[in-house]
Amino acid sequence: MIQEIGRHTLSTDFAKPMPQDADYVLLFQGTDVLLVPETGSLPHYTDWLSCGGTAEQLVHLLEVDGVQFFTALDLPEEIARNFTQETSRVLRKVEPRWLRLASVTCLHLVQWQRTHRFCGVCGAPMLPDQKELAMRCTNADCHAVTYPTVCPAVIVGVRNGDRILLTRSSVYKNPVYALVSGYMSVGETMEETVHREVLEETGLHVKNLQYCGNQPWGFSGAQMIGYWAELDGSDIITLQEDELKSAGWYTPEEIPPAYEDDPLDLTHYMIEQFRARRLPGQK
Ligand SMILES: [Zn+2]
Repeated sequence: MIQEIGRHTLSTDFAKPMPQDADYVLLFQGTDVLLVPETGSLPHYTDWLSCGGTAEQLVHLLEVDGVQFFTALDLPEEIARNFTQETSRVLRKVEPRWLRLASVTCLHLVQWQRTHRFCGVCGAPMLPDQKELAMRCTNADCHAVTYPTVCPAVIVGVRNGDRILLTRSSVYKNPVYALVSGYMSVGETMEETVHREVLEETGLHVKNLQYCGNQPWGFSGAQMIGYWAELDGSDIITLQEDELKSAGWYTPEEIPPAYEDDPLDLTHYMIEQFRARRLPGQK
């Protein structure tokens, strides 16, 4: 999964290091990422300098084992045009593996900074703070502070005897099979989110919830929290059609193949656990 980076350590502790040649400068256009055209790799500080960028334009984001990651919040067009633009999906495949978590966490932080350029209290511009990882209002009478936003969401593996509930989103074109999932509402416990999301999306009731694990998912700024649950009562599915194209019950042998070789997400980890019959009660 994306957070599995072995002995490496990702840190977002606040720091103001000076960029070095081996450091990265991650550049985004919306949710697209900019890559070095010749190599298809993420830009280093040297690439940034050779395109006319300066150290003063950079904002520090995070660090992995002494390698620093920066971005430029205001990316001049004459610099951007030196890079090729790809969807952030390419970050799922970058090497080495720890670079996937680092780059997607950078995307998460940049999306947060980009959506907090102006103060929600007084409307004045906000800038990265000088003392902590935060955006601070530039109005001296206000000084409101905003910290990085993480949105908790649940993933639910609903089991019914030897079968699991798989869904297909009505949003994605590919035939991607998934589990029931959804964001927590304000005032809810995670378990209440599980019950509500399963009921809303499929009309089913569940019981005996069991925590499975969680992971940061910077593509959407979420923290995904996995649960196993057992069906409680009728197995007849009533589809929420604006979110799901289909949903059904599958034995391990009936599950369609994974859509990529090395899936990074908790959904696929959970489905693969079920397919391999590694869960309690599976024979
Ligand atoms: Zn303000």
